[in-house]
Amino acid sequence: ETLRKGTYWMPFTANRRVRADPQARLLTSAKGPYYYMPDGTELFDTLSGLWCSPLGHAHPRIVEALKTQAETLDYAPPFQLTNPQTVHLAERIAGLAPDGMDHVFFANSGSEAVDTALKIALGYHRLRQEGQRFRMIGRERGYHGVGFGGMSVGGIVPNRKMFASGMMPGVDHLRHTYNPEHMAFSRGQPEWGADHAEDLERLVGLHDASTIAAVIVEPVQGSTGVIVPPVGYLQKLREICTKHGILLIFDEVITGFGRMGENFAAQRFDVKPDMITFAKAVTNGIIPMGGVIVTDEIYNTFMTGPENAIEFAHGYTYSGHPMATAVAHAVLDVMEEESLFARVRALEPVLEEAVHGLRDLPAVKDIRNIGLTAGVDLFPAEGAPGARGLAIFERGLREGLLLRCTGDTISFGPPFISTPEQLRGMIDGVRRLIQSVS
Ligand code: PMP
Repeated sequence: ETLRKGTYWMPFTANRRVRADPQARLLTSAKGPYYYMPDGTELFDTLSGLWCSPLGHAHPRIVEALKTQAETLDYAPPFQLTNPQTVHLAERIAGLAPDGMDHVFFANSGSEAVDTALKIALGYHRLRQEGQRFRMIGRERGYHGVGFGGMSVGGIVPNRKMFASGMMPGVDHLRHTYNPEHMAFSRGQPEWGADHAEDLERLVGLHDASTIAAVIVEPVQGSTGVIVPPVGYLQKLREICTKHGILLIFDEVITGFGRMGENFAAQRFDVKPDMITFAKAVTNGIIPMGGVIVTDEIYNTFMTGPENAIEFAHGYTYSGHPMATAVAHAVLDVMEEESLFARVRALEPVLEEAVHGLRDLPAVKDIRNIGLTAGVDLFPAEGAPGARGLAIFERGLREGLLLRCTGDTISFGPPFISTPEQLRGMIDGVRRLIQSVS
């Protein structure tokens, strides 16, 4: 069947060269860790969809949960009412979060989760009569979605440039921590670079701490190629935030639910933020869901603050959607029963060994990894940045690999159900692809 040209507007990126020919880019089915194209080509899913399908595709337990839920309660308005499984899901998610983070607000995507967290931060300070705290601090190279809030705090300049007139006021960005001279090819967390956190003191000095509402960071920057925080960096951010009464938000849309081998990156790095945003893996990518986990302190401020001191209206038609919560329960059941976070811990050294084995290729500029994620930077081809990555992506479709290439960086986040052989096979395939385009 031919597609009519010009009817479907694909989500687009700042790089117009990756504009797609939809004909060549069709995925028609998926099972386990594989996608299938119309001609039957099988593609290993090297990024779990977009970091969101750790259990692979068409898991029978989830299919069953969807069917049962659709027949029982397919929708319930979330404002004056709720449903038992949504309440229970909040308990379950809070149970996975660090102690004292016991309250969950549901949204429908990572972008919505981030915007929700930023609104909660502003509301929290207002309720504490600290309404002068309006500034937000993000981080260079951070990605927090495409809502106006998430875009403002996001640290990818091309993503927000065109929308400059709509950005939130008072947003600054911490300098990024990545310095290839000191950290190239480091395995896991680099030892060098924790003092980058002092950049927060610079911003505090510039603006006065009492005007700063929150700092938001991805513990591991996913979208910009798996940038791993130096040992001690997140701890230092926590200390500085605590000292100045600034809220710390971890955007765990990618790192949450086992990707780091722990429930959340907060536990992996042993740092307790004030809020955690999540999305993606919580429903295995099947039905959109996102949310924010907050400390008891934040929740209690909203619930016990002076009556009507502020009107805080926030929520989505699909907050805590019964279909999504049913899927999330099934996902968490499978993760628990199959001990998948322990499996991630067991697979981490396998991926690490395999991916760092690419180091001998002259086209490879840097390699990073942590949890079940890895990033490989290639040297750009002369005069054509991004061309190598694009060629690898396109050849990958013919060689059985669905790859995520942003510019000349390849990011990996394979499903938790992958076998060690599949991970090694994925990297062997990438080796051949890199060699073939070099
Ligand atoms: N935050 C992070 C850390 C993300 O990785 C993403 C998506 N890649 C988002 C927010 C936005 O999520 P969504 O695309 O679901 O809006």
